[in-house]
Amino acid sequence: MSPRKTTAAAVPVKENIFEAIAPQPEQSVSDPGQALRIIREDLGDCTRCVLHKQRKQIVFGVGNPTAELMFVGEGPGADEDEKGEPFVGSAGRQLNKMINDEMGIEREQVYIANIVKCRPPGNRKPKREECAKCSPFLMRQIAAIKPKVIVALGATAAKRLLPTSSPIAQLRRGFRDYRPAGVRSNDPNWHGCKLKVTYHPASRRGEWRQKGEAWKDLQMVMKELGMKAPKAST
Ligand code: SF4
Repeated sequence: MSPRKTTAAAVPVKENIFEAIAPQPEQSVSDPGQALRIIREDLGDCTRCVLHKQRKQIVFGVGNPTAELMFVGEGPGADEDEKGEPFVGSAGRQLNKMINDEMGIEREQVYIANIVKCRPPGNRKPKREECAKCSPFLMRQIAAIKPKVIVALGATAAKRLLPTSSPIAQLRRGFRDYRPAGVRSNDPNWHGCKLKVTYHPASRRGEWRQKGEAWKDLQMVMKELGMKAPKAST
């Protein structure tokens, strides 16, 4: 990936339901890895929403603390709940395939997280109040990592990151400027971030039309990151 470029501050997401976040302790440290550890410590053995009741473990997020590219999904499934790591089940294999085979990079180079950090029972979609309780921690992770591009995997993740209920076909169009709640528009440490919406990897299995469209999304992301011409989609 190319060196980071300084870009104009992103347009504030005024309607973001996670906007109002007080200054956080990790904002006083410059090392993103340390900042992530502070956030994880602050999360603790979280019982802020009902999702804690049936979880086996919290799935905080994994990857490079200085990643230029971050993937955000909806929430952990059974495999993720078991292993404590996001995207390690069948959807994770699809995501790995996307990262390794199609983008030509390693999973360890990116950062992967979810809107909620505990598995919703029966793999239902997380409820708005659960997202509202959990997403401030994701916002803090994004603020610490400062990715150049966030890829929202699927409609649920996209609609929780953006103040919209638009269909995914519409959300996929182009990039959006994104700034996590808690980061001021004049923050000198925030150099802007682009949000790209694509299909959830689980929806790519055998769905060729979507796969082709998702591949177009990835090509746009790679171009935005200044990455070399991708291999052919597999
Ligand atoms: Fe806490 Fe998030 Fe788990 Fe809810 S989903 S219990 S807010 S870590």
